[in-house]
Amino acid sequence: MNPLLSYSKGTSGGKQKWIPKTAEEGERRAFFSCLCDTVLNSFELRSFQGLNDGKALLFVLINPDIHTPGGLVLRTGSESEIKNRKDRYPQFILCEDSNQSLYSQLLCGLVQRDAIVNVGTFFASGLLRIIKFFEEHWQEMSSNIRTGQMSAWITDPNCKRAVSLILSKQMPDLADSIDLICQEKSWEGIIKKIWPRTKYVMAIITGSMAQYIPALEFYTGGLPVVSPVYGSSEAFFGINMKPLCSPYDVSYTFIPNMAYYEFLPIDNHQDPTCTNRKDAHLKDHIVDLANVKIGQHYELLVTTFTGLYRYRMGDIVLVTGFHNSTPQFKFGQRTNVVLSIHTDKTTEQDLQKAVAMAIQILEPLGFFLLDYSSYADTSSIPGHYVLFWELQLRSNDDIPELDQVKMEKCCSLVEQSLDQKYKLLRNQSISTIGPLEIRVVKQGTFNVLMDFYVSQGTSLNQYKTPKNIKSEKAIEILDSRVVGKFYSREVPNQDS
Ligand code: AMP
Repeated sequence: MNPLLSYSKGTSGGKQKWIPKTAEEGERRAFFSCLCDTVLNSFELRSFQGLNDGKALLFVLINPDIHTPGGLVLRTGSESEIKNRKDRYPQFILCEDSNQSLYSQLLCGLVQRDAIVNVGTFFASGLLRIIKFFEEHWQEMSSNIRTGQMSAWITDPNCKRAVSLILSKQMPDLADSIDLICQEKSWEGIIKKIWPRTKYVMAIITGSMAQYIPALEFYTGGLPVVSPVYGSSEAFFGINMKPLCSPYDVSYTFIPNMAYYEFLPIDNHQDPTCTNRKDAHLKDHIVDLANVKIGQHYELLVTTFTGLYRYRMGDIVLVTGFHNSTPQFKFGQRTNVVLSIHTDKTTEQDLQKAVAMAIQILEPLGFFLLDYSSYADTSSIPGHYVLFWELQLRSNDDIPELDQVKMEKCCSLVEQSLDQKYKLLRNQSISTIGPLEIRVVKQGTFNVLMDFYVSQGTSLNQYKTPKNIKSEKAIEILDSRVVGKFYSREVPNQDS
């Protein structure tokens, strides 16, 4: 049965969306996927030798269907594609227990490690999560390969059947080589070491995913990261026609027949949150795809074949050029405000930039930021912003006691990098916003957070760490794993 509603709970805004679907829309999406594959296969990637005689290891996870009280099936876009075209996918992808499925996918990927030529998943954050899972399970996987027997906790028939076709005998030499690589203290370049023929990694790395670029570069050993598409549960938008360009330069070429796109110009210096205003004349400024201008930022509006009219995606895009006469866009930022106290509104992009600036203090000490999130703590007066940071050492050592002065400097740098409004509110004689706080959490915390959201119905494939935590339970999860709290000791300078 074709689901009539597709849903998403994975956007960084954290709002659940139910979107009408039709069979025709499914075909349109299938066309988009084929077009994307064609682009990937026919452009720059062709330059890699041996891609055609290798295999892609693309991790896909699905959730059980949700049924509405009226009996309609709710699935995310990617789940619909997989469940409707089961014959195209290996059976373990149909397993709805994500641990069993991921274990099986990794195990098969290890057994066939010499055939793998590219590794990937939907979003960069998902790939990091998979690497963590591998870190926790590689010994068990290697022992399965040594004995030719899969662990007994894998009980799902789809997984058992699919793995037995690939893991059919004892392979002690392969197990030895995996042990040798995984026992190394630092996991720098682990993807390249485990899958030595890998030419590139596939994962969306633009927009809010850009924060994961350093972590991904670390684990991939500098392999190119291909960020193939820009799309959403509402509609698909664009394809990256230069798959091998730097993650910082990715532009997407809009595919004009996927939906009707319109664009609301945004003054390049304007506060993006202003797009939330209810301006009666807003529609007078809207332009369509053929009339956008290079160098201009726009908020994306979409009218879809399934009934959304001028729907505001909440995404801001920047026109960077044209492919023939089709405009190309860089994914800019989301219009959503992640932190707000009093009249301050800090957007996801403001926060991301500020965090990227502050983490530079810890980078010379061998740290990188694995993930972060935030919330506005208004339980005391004045309220203040709290950031949760999960740090990782390049050497893979446990996180040592953090240098108080350096961490306080990180807090100040975040504040210093936020906008004038924030600094003004911090500088008032009776300050309206208190000193910013960074709470460093134990390693693995953001995986626990993800498990929590997945247990609430979020799709694993579409999961993006929420940058503004609203759920009390989620804050509790983070708070219970805090290993250090640090506050800004300086009031930010308003002149810079
Ligand atoms: P969802 O509705 O869960 O599928 O999420 C759709 C949202 O994910 C979009 O509105 C974007 O904010 C984000 N997104 C999707 N593709 C990309 C991309 N290539 N780069 C950055 N963000 C993306």
